[in-house]
Amino acid sequence: MTGGIGMKTETFRFRLGSFSCLAIMDNAPRYPVGMFLTNLAREQYAPLLRQRGQDPQDIDLPYICLFINTGHEMVLVDTGIGVDGMGPAPGKLLPLLRAEGVQPHEIGTVILSHGHSDHIGGSLNKDGKPAFPNARYVMFRKEWDFWMSNPSLAELPVDENFKKGMLASAQKNLPGVQAQLDLVHPDAEIVPGITAIAAFGHSPGQMALEISSAEQQLLFVADAIVHPLHLEYPETIGATDHRPSQMVATRLTLLEKAAREKSLVSTSHFAFPGLGRVVPKGERWEWQPISATHAS
Ligand SMILES: [Zn+2]
Repeated sequence: MTGGIGMKTETFRFRLGSFSCLAIMDNAPRYPVGMFLTNLAREQYAPLLRQRGQDPQDIDLPYICLFINTGHEMVLVDTGIGVDGMGPAPGKLLPLLRAEGVQPHEIGTVILSHGHSDHIGGSLNKDGKPAFPNARYVMFRKEWDFWMSNPSLAELPVDENFKKGMLASAQKNLPGVQAQLDLVHPDAEIVPGITAIAAFGHSPGQMALEISSAEQQLLFVADAIVHPLHLEYPETIGATDHRPSQMVATRLTLLEKAAREKSLVSTSHFAFPGLGRVVPKGERWEWQPISATHAS
C-alpha cells in the first residue's frame, strides 16, 4: 500500500498496487459488545476494553463496504444495511459513492460476502430493483443455498425478532438480485486480482477475498473476525456465528495467513476504516490499525 491515502470520517481512499480502493462507512449502530464475545466472561473482557479506552458495555459497530477500481472494472464488496434493514438509520453507501464520483450503474461486480442484512441490505433500491443495475452480483452457492432453504436459525442465541429480521432481509435481497446473480465456488477468480476464498462458519457459506495487484496483497476477512479481541482470543464466539467451531477454524486459518504474508487486512466491523495488519503476539496475534502503521 503506497501513497494516495486520504482520511475522511466516512470514506477512506487507499491504493493497492494499481487498484484504487475506498473503504466506505455505511452505518455505525450501537450494539452491546458482549454480543461478539459470548463465551468470554465480562470480568475478562471489560478490563481489556477499559485499558484501551473503550466502553466495556456498548460498541459503535461500523458497517464497512469496500470499493475497488481495478482499472478495468469497478467492484463493490458488500452493500451495507440499505434503506429498511436492521439498525436505526438507513445506509449511506449510495450517497457516499456518489460523493466520490461513482454512480451505481458504473459498478460492474457486486460481491456479497454473506447473507447477513448488514452486508446485503443495500442490494436493492427503494423500488425493490437491483441497486446496481449493470452489476454481476457474486456469492458462494453454499451461502445462497443456506438462505434459500428457509433455515430456522435455531443455532443462534438471539431473539426471535432478530432472527425474523435476518431471514426477511436475506429472502428479500437475494432473490431480488437473482437475475444478475453468479453463484461461485471457493477459489474462483471473480475478476482478475480478486479471488474468493472459503471462510465458512460465521455463516455457512461466507466468502473472504484475496485481492492483489502489483505484488501488494489485501485480505478481506468479512465477519470471520468482528472485534479486535478476536485476534487475542480467537476461540471467542459471537451471537451471529451459525457454525461456531467451523468459524474458529476459519478464523485461525485467516489470521495465520495474514500474519505470515504480512498482508494488509480489511475487516467489515473494526474501527473505521477497518484496515490494518495482524501481528504475532505470543501464541496469538494483535491488531495494528493502518492509521497507526502510517503515522510516520
Ligand atoms: Zn457483519
